[in-house]
Amino acid sequence: MTDVAVVGAGLAGSLLACFLGRRGHEVTVYERRSDPRAGRAERGRSINLALSERGLDALRRVGLDGDVMAAALPMRGRMIHPIDGHLDFQPYSVDGRRAINSISRGALNNALLDAAAATPGVRLVFEHRLVGLDPLVFETPQGKVEAAADVVLGADGAGSAVRGQLLGYGMLDESLDFLDHGYKELTIPPLGNDFALDPGALHIWPRGTSMMIALPNPDRSFTCTLFWPNGGTASFASLSSPAAIERHFSVHYPDVLPLMPNLVDDYQHNPVGKLGTVRCGPWQVDGRLALIGDAAHAIVPFYGQGANCAFEDCVELDRCLAETGDEWADALPLFEARRRENVEAIAQMALANFVEMRDKVASPLFQLGKKVEHALERALPGRYVSRYELVSFTTTPYAEVRRRVRRQHQVLGAAVALAAGAAAAALGRSAWR
Ligand SMILES: Cc1cc2nc3c(=O)[nH]c(=O)nc-3n(C[C@H](O)[C@H](O)[C@H](O)COP(=O)(O)OP(=O)(O)OC[C@H]3O[C@@H](n4cnc5c(N)ncnc54)[C@H](O)[C@@H]3O)c2cc1C
Repeated sequence: MTDVAVVGAGLAGSLLACFLGRRGHEVTVYERRSDPRAGRAERGRSINLALSERGLDALRRVGLDGDVMAAALPMRGRMIHPIDGHLDFQPYSVDGRRAINSISRGALNNALLDAAAATPGVRLVFEHRLVGLDPLVFETPQGKVEAAADVVLGADGAGSAVRGQLLGYGMLDESLDFLDHGYKELTIPPLGNDFALDPGALHIWPRGTSMMIALPNPDRSFTCTLFWPNGGTASFASLSSPAAIERHFSVHYPDVLPLMPNLVDDYQHNPVGKLGTVRCGPWQVDGRLALIGDAAHAIVPFYGQGANCAFEDCVELDRCLAETGDEWADALPLFEARRRENVEAIAQMALANFVEMRDKVASPLFQLGKKVEHALERALPGRYVSRYELVSFTTTPYAEVRRRVRRQHQVLGAAVALAAGAAAAALGRSAWR
């Protein structure tokens, strides 16, 4: 049994506490916020997210999948909204039945906190902001307090204070790659008593260099997220007056303008969030301190995988502890060795998916490609599986997904080249005759 301090009671920290408590460790989770189960969500801060197989697999292991999924809204495909023309529904899976799930981030965090609090050996401490690592020091409403632990796990998100401390001690290198795009949330309220758009899809308005998406909520509203450039024309910086906002939406998002009665207020008051990729290393020091989730490897949200990946971290750390007999000095380096290439793979796939979502999904060539891909999946069941399906509907390690998709494309390329060669030869023969 080890005394563990988990810093951050977000998605990764609270799930991690459940896994560690079940292993018999004494866990104290320190969170800078007050207990979110008693309060309200922050305005304009990603109120829902897409949960897929990796996250569900982790929740299943702590018996939380049923409760979380009871309030989830399955999204079986993308609904593309062109500026003019018809809506286009593109199913995520070949049978059209598999879905990613829109869930409330706050409700998920609260369910995890309840589960952590109910796990023997786990203690949750709120209003404790980590400000020092050696010794552990937290700022609280009553002033600074010190704490001790055998092992410290930093699950304190993309702007991790634990990572910052390690950087200050020269024990870690980091690179932060911010996009030139930010995000802002808007709302489509229910229309009468119903959803204003199809709740069975993730809606996308691809507009070349920018886009908007919308995910359904259980109260029949939709949370929309604008992913726009921060500067230049048609950017967050260039649009501020009510008339300009409405004019921009009437030109670029004409079908949603009538569905957004609070557009101007939401736009003017909701913050613009940053988007970026955090890379750092090492993730662990001497088998006594480690980073996990966004603190170690925040990624851009375009594959809907950040939280899923953070949950998968928790599963992997639990596995490493089981395999090493809870020897932290062995488990933490093993965890880093196994996760690093996978996390790098999803970081790159997430960046590439931004271009696909904001631009390619609208093109007829892309749509044809998806149809061909689904036809191949039907013709070669289990042998040809699309990247999206492998990432979202399996727990195949992310790096293996990349390798497998590359192999599939090579085989496909060779088959096409062979077919083209055969066709050219046949043409040549008939011309000669
Ligand atoms: C716009 C957007 C959309 C997204 N959509 C999806 C999606 O659809 N699917 C998906 O899987 N992922 C999505 N993500 C990513 C997902 O939100 C993150 O990957 C996930 O929240 C990471 O969990 P975490 O616990 O590591 O960090 P966080 O959830 O950020 O939790 C960190 C916790 O640490 C606390 N903390 C911070 N500093 C301190 C400190 N000094 N002391 C104590 N506590 C501290 C914070 O208050 C917080 O509670 C999205 C992200 C964004 C920005």
